[in-house]
Amino acid sequence: MNLPDFTSAYWIFLLTVIFFIIITGRYFLIAGLFYLIFYTWFPSKFEARKINKKKYKKGQFKKEIKWSLITSLLFSVAGTITVILWQKGYTKVYTKPDLYGFWYLPISLIIFMLLHETYYYWIHRWMHIPRVYKIVHKVHHDSKIASPFTAFSFHPFEGLLQAIFLPLMLMILPMHYYIIILQLTIMTFSSVINHLDIEIYPKPLKKSFGKWIIGATHHSLHHKQFKYNYGLYFTFWDKIEKTEGELMAGDR
Ligand SMILES: [Zn+2]
Ligand SMILES: [Zn+2]
Repeated sequence: MNLPDFTSAYWIFLLTVIFFIIITGRYFLIAGLFYLIFYTWFPSKFEARKINKKKYKKGQFKKEIKWSLITSLLFSVAGTITVILWQKGYTKVYTKPDLYGFWYLPISLIIFMLLHETYYYWIHRWMHIPRVYKIVHKVHHDSKIASPFTAFSFHPFEGLLQAIFLPLMLMILPMHYYIIILQLTIMTFSSVINHLDIEIYPKPLKKSFGKWIIGATHHSLHHKQFKYNYGLYFTFWDKIEKTEGELMAGDR
């Protein structure tokens, strides 16, 4: 297949626009849908599962959406850079699903998520050093009570730190492009679920396998208390590093 030269200014612009439409569309679709279901259509059904009883600050969603759009633009540029790196042969992205065997498809997803978890946990700890926090991470914590729209609400410096991970990983870890799309979708769902401020996982799950997965209860504590629960998808680093905290009744 003859592909155009993606390094031309025209293609760089076009690819970035296409990625921006996809990434913002996905953000509004998933965050919006969760907001409608949990806060507009059936709020009474989930009242018992709501974590913070206080109301959202006026203008919070607007601010979160503004920062999320900037983050989405950074993710779009990272997407364009990834495509260029791929065309120039610098990535390990592949297109034939059986190239490494079908068994490798889920394995690559697991490896990516474990490495992403490790990367995020440690830069998140670093971002909580007071002088770094003020510049890089405060924007995210301005949402004292998280909402579905907090999902991508980051200062551009933090957005950048998050955006570079995928292209860097793809230069060393072979991944089929379907798995990359799946991973990005999981990432968006996970961020919206963790910032929903309503615990959606059933209790029996939370007590078994679910204790290894971050949910709204786990992450809402981080937004309030700062010194616990730094994880992204999984809780293992918080358990290993003893930074896992539980929500106390009085914290509500
Ligand atoms: Zn958060
Ligand atoms: Zn934080």
